[in-house]
Amino acid sequence: MTAPNLWGNELEYRRTVLKVVLLVIILAGITFTINNWVVGHKIFAMVELLVVVLSVFILVIHKKTPNLTLWSSVFLFALYTVILIGIYTASFSSALYSWLFIVPVLSYLLLGTLLGTIYSIIYVGLGCGLLSYRHIMHFSEIPTIAIVNIALALIAIWALSYTYEQKRAEMVKRLQEMASLDPLTGLNNRLLLSSIFEMLQQSLPEKQKSVSMILIDLDHFKKVNDVFGHGVGDAVLVDVSRIISSMRRRNDWAFRFGGEEFCLLVPEVNISQASSVAERLRHAVENNLNAEGYSAAMTVSIGVARWPENGQTLSDLYKVADERLYKAKEQGRNQVVSE
Ligand code: GH3
Ligand code: MG
Ligand code: MG
Repeated sequence: MTAPNLWGNELEYRRTVLKVVLLVIILAGITFTINNWVVGHKIFAMVELLVVVLSVFILVIHKKTPNLTLWSSVFLFALYTVILIGIYTASFSSALYSWLFIVPVLSYLLLGTLLGTIYSIIYVGLGCGLLSYRHIMHFSEIPTIAIVNIALALIAIWALSYTYEQKRAEMVKRLQEMASLDPLTGLNNRLLLSSIFEMLQQSLPEKQKSVSMILIDLDHFKKVNDVFGHGVGDAVLVDVSRIISSMRRRNDWAFRFGGEEFCLLVPEVNISQASSVAERLRHAVENNLNAEGYSAAMTVSIGVARWPENGQTLSDLYKVADERLYKAKEQGRNQVVSE
């Protein structure tokens, strides 16, 4: 499972772009439909009307649909097909080919780098092919220099659109990582907890719907800083996170909550299985800690709670796990409390 998107959904950005594009195309499409109907190109007018109807339909569903990329692909397929038919049938002087310039821009904005490149290759290629074909067949109508200029402008727009989309996607990914990962240990930070918890609640099969929270706090960590220095304290935190990461199963989620508190979300286990995981963790920290410059013992106290029986909401669950962690501290530290 991948981490849920902290920014709501990257597709939100594409939804807004799609909306703007649809409005423009509906306006242009109605104009072209009327114009072609009036001048007698009735079949072309009907085809354009179909694109308008499709655009209105997608405009209505674009906010809710979970298949945004699919609908964007369908829309661009219809739009580009009409543009190609126009280039093939209309006279060069109508400048219909100028619509080719929006192909790379729209493809990258709406479909991302991979699909955008595929669409651009197909439709810029077909558009240039049709223009070249007409150039060969009707040499006097389209001057060679016009073809060269159109091709160069298309390459420039294509390169810029590709670079923009690639850099934008990269930047969003980096910002997401910065906002969701703890910079010291690389574990998920607390910001991601509620989205991951919700994702687990929704994605687990009904029969095994459970999420155990294992809350881990280092014992007397302040002394590590006081005796060995902050740098060694950091190394201890990094090594504890290494131990937690190495022990988690594929569907478990590890977090650093800030300071010297860690959390592991373990779906689909009963409370005694969750306690065993916690006990193994406690044992591993006690015996396997290996932080440069640190030569003393290190132990952890752990509180374990399980959703749904220990709390219906995440904050209820956290409260119970925290109370149990507190109890573990009270009872002498270096232990797991799960009831
Ligand atoms: P207890 O057993 O009751 O949990 O005692 P403790 O000393 O572990 O807990 P306390 O909350 O008193 O101290 C936590 C310390 O963790 C205080 C703070 O200086 C240290 N700390 C918090 N964040 C970091 C960090 O990022 N790096 C380092 N080196 N120390 C940190
Ligand atoms: Mg502590
Ligand atoms: Mg603490």
